[in-house]
Amino acid sequence: MHLDPFELHRPTSVDEAVRLAGELAGRFDFLAGGTDLLPNYKMHINLKPHLVALDRVSELAGHSLSRLGAMERLSRLEQDPAFVAAYPGLADALADLATPLVRASGTVGGNLLLETRCFFFNQSYFWRASLGFCLKADGDRCHVVPQKERCYATFSGDLAPPLLTLGATVEVAGPGGRRKVPLEKLYDTEGDGIRRLRLAPGELVVAVDLPDGAAGQRARYKKLRVRPSFDFPELGVAVAGRWNSAQVDELKVAVGGVETYPRRFDELTEALVGGPLSDAKVASLAEEITRRLRPVHNTFLAPDYRRRMIGIYVRRAILEAREGQGG
Ligand SMILES: Cc1cc2nc3c(=O)[nH]c(=O)nc-3n(C[C@H](O)[C@H](O)[C@H](O)COP(=O)(O)OP(=O)(O)OC[C@H]3O[C@@H](n4cnc5c(N)ncnc54)[C@H](O)[C@@H]3O)c2cc1C
Ligand code: SF4
Repeated sequence: MHLDPFELHRPTSVDEAVRLAGELAGRFDFLAGGTDLLPNYKMHINLKPHLVALDRVSELAGHSLSRLGAMERLSRLEQDPAFVAAYPGLADALADLATPLVRASGTVGGNLLLETRCFFFNQSYFWRASLGFCLKADGDRCHVVPQKERCYATFSGDLAPPLLTLGATVEVAGPGGRRKVPLEKLYDTEGDGIRRLRLAPGELVVAVDLPDGAAGQRARYKKLRVRPSFDFPELGVAVAGRWNSAQVDELKVAVGGVETYPRRFDELTEALVGGPLSDAKVASLAEEITRRLRPVHNTFLAPDYRRRMIGIYVRRAILEAREGQGG
């Protein structure tokens, strides 16, 4: 596998990046750490002739407890003791995310905007060609659900579920100016599964903001994967909450690694707030979340197994948070 030639652009400000994006419309990708994009390019997946690198845009760098720059390296978050103490769910996710080497290059923005994954898609050009490609790149059908004209590739980023449980918002810049969107609204939940984000052409992510009160919650992230040393999530469950003795005052649960976008389940958890969270209530919440999610056969582990593990991981994550582990 080799990298085809491309032209590299290195803007030094958000405005310049947005201007370049306008000029190169449809013929470029933004480049952050490149740990997801460049392996895909090597497999000749959705290649573009131009890359707009964001590493010289100083506004995108750095982090505080309330704001994470899109270009902040994942390793810088995990090496910040104040960050790890304030956000135990994010700390769990960072510790289990890829490898130390990948985390040294991979960024917050790149992780949230990760290409979705499928074992018919993350393959070499020749492998994909032998099957006539697929809807998501170069082809006209889906090998996972051939009856449907949509893509079921899985969202496999580890940061989104814990950030969803903290109520994170994302600052976006583009030709129309700047706007803030709740993280859950960044993901396309209604389309064909190919267009995975609700970003307008030429828009880039500037930063992720964490609201007042996000820090200091009891939180956990549980990840199912084949090889604990570096694999993508086959399931990722995040929980964050506040307890006042036995009573739960705040509770959020989000799940990734199962469908085309990460999901939070406020419609189920809100009803539990304000009362004691018994084992029976946790068990029925876990069952209800499992009922709403439908993994398909496009990753290594069988969908039935992944589905059964959803309830188990939801239960374990909530019980650990309730008992005071993780913050
Ligand atoms: C061996 C290996 C194991 C991995 N395991 C995991 C894992 O366990 N969990 C996991 O979550 N990930 C995993 N990854 C994927 C990846 O390394 C990380 O998700 C990483 O955080 C991606 O960030 P990046 O900066 O390298 O993104 P890039 O590859 O640079 O970009 C990813 C996508 O986001 C777009 N993009 C990036 N930044 C912006 C921005 N600011 N605005 C607009 N668009 C942008 C790019 O155009 C591209 O489409 C793994 C990768 C490898 C190689
Ligand atoms: S789910 Fe279907 S269309 Fe999507 S990547 Fe896999 S095979 Fe391709």
